[in-house]
Amino acid sequence: MKAKWLAALLAALCALLTAVAAGAERSGACGDHVTWTLSGEGVLTVSGQGDMGDFDSSPFPAADVKFAVIEPGVTRIGDWAFSGCAALSGVSIPEGVTAIGEGAFNGCISLEEAAFPDGLARIGYGAFAGCTALRRVVFPAGVDLSGYAFSGCAGLTSLSFPDHVTAGGWAFYGCGGLTEVSFRDGVTCVGGVDFYGCPNLADIFMPDSVTSIDYGFSFNRYNHPRLGITAQTCGSPAYNWATSYGFPVRALNHIPVMDPADPSAVIRCAVCGEMIRPQETDPTPRSGTYLERGVDGVFRVYTDGVFDAGYEGLIDYEDQSFFTAGGMVLTGASGLALYDGVWYFLAEGRLVKEHSGFVLYDGEWFLIRNGLLDADASGIYEYNGFRFLISLGRKVSEYSGLWQNSDGQWLFIAGGQVVEYTGLALYDGAWFYVVDGALAVDYTGEVAYNGARFTVVNGMLAG
Ligand SMILES: [Zn+2]
Repeated sequence: MKAKWLAALLAALCALLTAVAAGAERSGACGDHVTWTLSGEGVLTVSGQGDMGDFDSSPFPAADVKFAVIEPGVTRIGDWAFSGCAALSGVSIPEGVTAIGEGAFNGCISLEEAAFPDGLARIGYGAFAGCTALRRVVFPAGVDLSGYAFSGCAGLTSLSFPDHVTAGGWAFYGCGGLTEVSFRDGVTCVGGVDFYGCPNLADIFMPDSVTSIDYGFSFNRYNHPRLGITAQTCGSPAYNWATSYGFPVRALNHIPVMDPADPSAVIRCAVCGEMIRPQETDPTPRSGTYLERGVDGVFRVYTDGVFDAGYEGLIDYEDQSFFTAGGMVLTGASGLALYDGVWYFLAEGRLVKEHSGFVLYDGEWFLIRNGLLDADASGIYEYNGFRFLISLGRKVSEYSGLWQNSDGQWLFIAGGQVVEYTGLALYDGAWFYVVDGALAVDYTGEVAYNGARFTVVNGMLAG
């Protein structure tokens, strides 16, 4: 059992050793004082001092190079050095490299990104031609691109240039995916870059720093039927140049001025005169305190455009009024609510100002007038054909007996309500004659009641 296990381990070890041998490090010279090393993982390192040599084809095992590291000290990448490295996906180029030779990365179809260091002065003829996977290129200021340098890089969709970049004829020829080009802020001259053979180029951005667009900027509307120019500000040299050459042109910045004749409605650009849409101007926040419905559907209180979390009380919205606390409508509030000495009749926070009459709240009846407790109401109040005894807006339900109204009438009350009754009624041990709920104090005579006849004097039963 143990022997069998040992045999399996030895077999695994042999397999591992074979794999290492297949990926063994290889190396060589590629310049007078420059060498290369290719690791088992496919990383090619170029190190030493000075320029690499120039070649007619790659001096490396081109099919096995997956990533290239140029170490500091190397000053130039030689002609055709990495050409045809089909598996090369990236390259690291340090500061100190000042030139990249002719065809150096020609046909590196897996290369996706190329970032060049400051100080790089020249990229040679066709250096990155046919790098169809290339999506991102970072150019340093002042670099000179030789002819065809990036021709046939179909994967490039956008490019950004710093100042003083020049590009020889047909540098981007056949970059059919290129749609956007921008010159970075600070670029003063865009004259040296040629986009001939980029038929889908649709937009070139030029900042206000661009003051020179010379003859070398050799594109025209015939070569670029889709091209429009984006200027930073209308009236800038780039804007005026594009306008004079008949390109569609737009400006990111206008200078808005209000028409003094109609300050509320008309805003025009002071430079180009174009109408500026109202949403491009800063909206003036509403002043005062008001209720506003948010995009979430929630109503909140704002004061001068700012959420007013400290607000409490009634606030109007359209033709309604709402009861708020903490800047929010008290949607949970229904019934009577006391605020600042006034009782309000609410339904889910809304003042029910269309209501006048009695409402039952907390077991008591209250008299409401236009949504507010009628706290001045005292005396007899008629509602729905009945009369009630009210004190400070509250029905006096605990009261039963005779009660003298403001017109001098004595009314017969039971449970706070006038008893709409005609006949004899017992109160406090005595019998009274009542007509429609009022004591008949002026009546003296006989009264028929329950089949018998009684004598009444001044509304009271005699005897
Ligand atoms: Zn304008």
